[in-house]
Amino acid sequence: MRQFHPRIMDRWIVGNWKMNGSAADISAYAEELRNADAKSWTRPGARMAVCPPFPYLTAVRQALQGLPVRLGAQNVHPAAHGAFTGEVSAGMLKELGAELCIVGHSERRTLFHETDAFIGEKGRAVAAAGIRPILCVGETLAQREAGRQLEVVQAQLEGALAGWDGAARAALLIAYEPVWAIGTGRTATAAQAQEMHAAIRAWLAAQWGSAASRSVPLLYGGSVTAQNAAALFAELDVNGALVGGASLKAGSFLGIFQHA
Ligand code: PEP
Repeated sequence: MRQFHPRIMDRWIVGNWKMNGSAADISAYAEELRNADAKSWTRPGARMAVCPPFPYLTAVRQALQGLPVRLGAQNVHPAAHGAFTGEVSAGMLKELGAELCIVGHSERRTLFHETDAFIGEKGRAVAAAGIRPILCVGETLAQREAGRQLEVVQAQLEGALAGWDGAARAALLIAYEPVWAIGTGRTATAAQAQEMHAAIRAWLAAQWGSAASRSVPLLYGGSVTAQNAAALFAELDVNGALVGGASLKAGSFLGIFQHA
């Protein structure tokens, strides 16, 4: 029998633009969203956000003014300020209007060697600044083929979420993003996503209690499109999506949102 979650949470559709976009793209994107049929926006309980590169945060905020689209960042440094050339703090993101911030994306784990502990610090820093962290977790193909996906994700949760207080916990969103599904066109099946999301929810319940576990939105990420979104969102513990490639065009992003 399916478990009933008494506290039904909002669903989040969040676009991660990665290092893509330009000033011209932002204008075109905003225009397409503004011209979209009002029906595209009317999804009760569903929230949309986009995470552009740092330099475009202000331009995107201005271009999307008046639209129900929240602003997010893709990364942050945990320190408030100091000698960290090239880095950006949570306070700075807050001043620019960011409401969300991705931490621990697999590209940052792999390409920039970020550890779970450092990712956890980032998450706590953004939560302290009044921004909701989206903690990304997920296994590689080799780890899944070895049947180790649950243990890998659990270790990532343990490493990143140690020492989080109540306020930080309340701000948290988690994105399960199997590395083998990111940018590959190979999506996890709805059953695979649900299995992992249920395991994450169970881990949260064991650590933080069941009420807290039910208030953390669990997003799925990895080649989500308008074609596969409905099946994923039908799963009990899939509370939305973190979308890379398909968020770069307003039309395909709205196509996903309509299934939320
Ligand atoms: C991502 O990078 O967070 C992502 C999910 O990318 P894509 O949708 O392109 O697989």
